[in-house]
Parts: sequence; structure tokens; C-alpha cells
Amino acid sequence: MKVIKFGGTSVGSTKGLRKVKHIVESSEEPVIVVVSAFSGVTDKLIRTSKLASVGDLAYQDIFREIVTLHEEVINELFADRKEKKDLTDKVNRLLNELDNIFQGISLIKDLSPKTLDTVLSYGERISSWVVAQLIPGSKHFDSREFIKTEKKHSKNFIDKDLTNHLIKQTFDQLPDTAVVPGFISSDKLTGEITNLGRGGSDYTAAMIAAALNARYLEIWTDVDGFMTADPHVIDSAYTIDELSYVEATELCNFGAKVIYPPTIYPVFHKNIPIRVRNTFNLESKGTIIKQEVSKTKAHKAIKGISSINDTCLITVQGLGMVGVIGVNYRIFKVLAKNGISVFLVSQASSENSTSIGVRNEDADLACEILDKEFAREIETGEMYPMKAERDLATVAIVGENMKHTPGIAGKLFGILGKNGINVIACAQGASEMNISIVVENQLLK
Ligand code: ASP
Ligand code: MG
Repeated sequence: MKVIKFGGTSVGSTKGLRKVKHIVESSEEPVIVVVSAFSGVTDKLIRTSKLASVGDLAYQDIFREIVTLHEEVINELFADRKEKKDLTDKVNRLLNELDNIFQGISLIKDLSPKTLDTVLSYGERISSWVVAQLIPGSKHFDSREFIKTEKKHSKNFIDKDLTNHLIKQTFDQLPDTAVVPGFISSDKLTGEITNLGRGGSDYTAAMIAAALNARYLEIWTDVDGFMTADPHVIDSAYTIDELSYVEATELCNFGAKVIYPPTIYPVFHKNIPIRVRNTFNLESKGTIIKQEVSKTKAHKAIKGISSINDTCLITVQGLGMVGVIGVNYRIFKVLAKNGISVFLVSQASSENSTSIGVRNEDADLACEILDKEFAREIETGEMYPMKAERDLATVAIVGENMKHTPGIAGKLFGILGKNGINVIACAQGASEMNISIVVENQLLK
């Protein structure tokens, strides 16, 4: 069996849905189909909620757009099919519930995270019913019953063991075609609706593939696969046909929005290959991610360049840090306690400064808690108050074969120097698979 996941652009239009039907029905083995919400719907649900929560009646216009989007697709696809009434009834019931929730939000002018999570769930709940009805003989499953989360630092994380167990139980008897909403989940204690984070449908698919030892995980999207670089930045970027799990993790953790980063680990663990395919271009073979990349493909030292422009660099600095044990421990402990993720670390061997890369939205909180943690040292002058440099970009070159290949870093810095590009910070782990540099944001445009 295989697990195949379709993103929002694949399921959000009549054209896309016809392709989805064709792809699913062409499978020669049982499939579990995981779907995202229709394209743009999750964003619209967020916008509608925000407007309603400040009592702005314009929320009704966006809600109308959501309704129309679904109505149009259903009318076109199911024009004179007998399933239409059943599907329309189901979708209307869900949209009515949603309408009532929005009215409630707008009346009390309050939007709790719990309510927002409930609102967001409707995107996938509706799209999955549309897809299930489109494929005769398929069986619809509700992922809230088997994807379970728990709360830590006020964020929801998947409970892997419980989820694994429940997936196995749910799909004990595998139908030929199962359809499952991606992204949505429920709290293991309260049963409240939660989700796996933006882009999380991929993760739902990966958890199912891993629990059931699928032969393949296929991620169907609207691009041909992983590209050598962001095509909006570099015109000559092209699709990479093979990547190792590690290379794919490095690339998608960082900018390449092809798959949601947590997706790779569960299937890597079971050695299940991931195929990234384009729903709208069946000719393209896409990218395959697996353990062993074939020898002929393996010679390239650099597989791709990834970039994110949402970077803030915080520098923890002071002559009093030199030789003091436990400074880094304290930095990472307080950041972790506050749920702040650090994606780049650089410390010179002189030990008088440690720079950490965080997202801009986390910068204020990070500075505040670090200033507090080191208040005594700052007061005595052993350390300086935290310095945040915002709106920077991080660029990374990635490739498993960079390991033991001398001259790559030399070439990288040589090219940057020749082009007058100032490197603000850099980091290379001893795995030698990724060299990251931080530069001014406008250099990425
Ligand atoms: N619909 C959700 C989002 O837009 C999840 C997904 O598409 O994977 O983030
Ligand atoms: Mg998506």
C-alpha cells in the first residue's frame, strides 16, 4: 500500500480534482489519500476569524468567498451525479456550523487559540468529504480520531506513540481507497480539535505511512519537486531528481516549501521512500527521497541552495564569558523553556560571543528572556545587553558529499567576497552537510 497526499492547489479546483481522481484510480495497490484544505482556504479562515474577532462585518465577505469556492467546485464536478445531494448536504451542514462560530466570535469579539483551531479544521474536513465523494468506493476516515496531540509550552505536539497505535488500529482492515483529512488532530486528554501546524497535512501522511509500513509516501503538489534553489531568486534553478533523507531535511528545513520539515523523520526511520510529484505535470518524475542516492547521482558535492529571509541574529556577548562554563547551557535552557526555536548557532573559539539565529517574530521575547537570565552579568559589565539584528537572510549550501571535499567553503567565501557580499555570521556543523551564512536581507532579492 502507499500513502498519497494532495496539497491545496491539487484539490482546490475542478481541474486539480479531476487529476486527483485519475491519479488515485490509477493506483494498482491500496491507497490512503490524505488531503489539504482547498487552496487558500486556511488563510481565508484565519482572515475571517481575525475580522470577526474585532467585530468587523467584512468577515462575512470572506466567509462568502469560502462558501462560493466550495459551491462552485461541487457544482462543476458533480453537475448531474447522484452523489451531489449527499455531498451538498454534508458540506452545507459544516459551512453552517462555521457560520455560527463566526457569528459567535463577532458577537463576543474574542478569538481564543482553541476557537481558531476549531475554525481551521473545517478546511480539511470539507475538502476530504469532497474527495471521498469524488472517488466511488472510497471510505472516509476522520483523522481527529487517530492523530493525537499533547500540549507543551502552550503548543501542540503530536503524541507519536499513541498516534502510531491508533493508526494501526484504525486501518487494521485496509479498504482499497481511504480518504483522510490532513493537518487536523485532537488533544489526547480533552479531545479538543487541534492541528499539526501550517503545512501539516504532509506530516499526517508521513505518520500514517510510517505506522502502516507503506511502500511509498507520495506528496503531490504543484511544482515538479525539490529545486536546486528558489526559482524566484535564481532563474536557472532546476528539479533535483534524487535526494537522501538528510539532504531533503536540510533543504526543507530551510526555505524550500516543498514539504513540511517534520514529515521526513517518521518515514526515514522506516526507510520508506518519499516521492514528490506534480499533480499538473505527470510527465515529470519529480524528486525521490531515499536512503541511498544512486552512485551516478551522488558525485555532486552541492545538491541545493536554500534560503530564508526571516532571520534575526541575536548576539550574546561579553568578555566575562570567556572560559566560563555553562553560558551556552543557560542560553539554550531559557530559550527552550519559552518555546523559542533556534535554527543557527555560531560561536567563535575565543568564547566571547555566541550568535543565534531565530525568526523575527521570536526576537523580542528572546532578547527579553536572555537579558533577564543574564541580568547579574550585565549589571556587573561581564556581559552586554542582548543585541538583535533583524531582517536578515540565511542562505545555506547543502549536500551530503560536501563531507571530506576540500575547497567548498573556500569557493563559497571567495565568490561572496568577489561580489562584495558581507557575511554577518556563518555556521558549519561537523557533519559537513550544510554551510549556512547570514547576510543582509536585500541581498536575497
Ligand atoms: N491547510 C493547512 C495549511 O494551509 C495544512 C496543509 O495544507 O498542509 O497550512
Ligand atoms: Mg499546504
